[in-house]
Amino acid sequence: MNGKSVSDIRDLSPEDIKSFLITHDEKSFRGKQVFEWLWKKQCTSFDEMTDIPKACRELLKSNFTFHQAIQAKIRKSRDGTVKIGFILHDGSIVEGVLIPSGLRFTACVSSQVGCPLGCVFCATGKLGFMRNLSAGEIFDQAVYLKKLASERTNSPAGLSNIVYMGMGEPMLNYENVKKSVEMIASADGMGMSSQRITISSLGIPKMIRQMADDELKCHFALSLHATANEKRNRLVPFNLRHPLEDIKEALKYYYIKTGKRFTIEYILFKDINDSIADARELAAFCKNFPVKVNLLEYNEVEGTGLFRSGPEKLQAFADFLEKKNMVVNIRKSRGKDIDAACGQLAGMVSSEIAKKRN
Ligand code: SF4
Repeated sequence: MNGKSVSDIRDLSPEDIKSFLITHDEKSFRGKQVFEWLWKKQCTSFDEMTDIPKACRELLKSNFTFHQAIQAKIRKSRDGTVKIGFILHDGSIVEGVLIPSGLRFTACVSSQVGCPLGCVFCATGKLGFMRNLSAGEIFDQAVYLKKLASERTNSPAGLSNIVYMGMGEPMLNYENVKKSVEMIASADGMGMSSQRITISSLGIPKMIRQMADDELKCHFALSLHATANEKRNRLVPFNLRHPLEDIKEALKYYYIKTGKRFTIEYILFKDINDSIADARELAAFCKNFPVKVNLLEYNEVEGTGLFRSGPEKLQAFADFLEKKNMVVNIRKSRGKDIDAACGQLAGMVSSEIAKKRN
């Protein structure tokens, strides 16, 4: 590799690959072939590119590398949830989760190593922020989880949905998240229906508008959790920078621009945001646009001082919203026996690796 710094070939656009090859006296059509190997055929080394002449493969090898996300740890829950710790080229760990949904699975992928936003209920928030994932590293998680879902269901269609709801705030890594969504949804990539991809975010007004302007082909879900700034500030300190009024305006823009309904995610915390008065406020917030509400059972994280609401409270909350003619789903907490709260497995695997190194 001549001692020079080597970049991941999957960071390049099709045009970049083509112009690199042309500059090195290769045929321009090789660019399309190489791009296909990277995203559609999901190769993991240059040697797999069997229809590319050896000299061209050597040229690529000496100028680029693959930064692949590789499974480092797998934990299986009694309820069918599977949690994977992926190790990245620099030794960082991120999590991906496969969650049973009916006869198929939903895959949850990470977009950052750690997270800078420090939501008080979140295990990832406690890890701090290390770095953004590349589009390739996000894509690898989706590819791996799709394969696992197919194996577990004995069907190539074992994966029903992909949600960007793992470690990190996707909107803070927008360009790479966007590229990974495009590669997951494109016929030149994984070929999954864009209807089945959801980006879940705390809501950064500027980025919500950007997503609408870009006509990004996926669903959007806002992790709301509270409808009054004072309460949300306590759960999501990032709200101090982007209060709910600003988020609401951005959501209106998103709806006007895309015409798409989005999802509101709301974790119920015992005695914090789970009263009927809270449900009434949530209904008022949602009047501004057509939405679907997912009420999430909290996956408790030690040391947060926060607890999941009881099933009766959760049901009463849902009933209240339904009486207001809202579309409501209850999402039970999954993988309780394998520490399935986002960030717990990554924290554990990172400490195991650190112990082995010492
Ligand atoms: Fe970051 Fe999401 Fe955790 Fe908040 S909930 S700290 S945005 S990973």
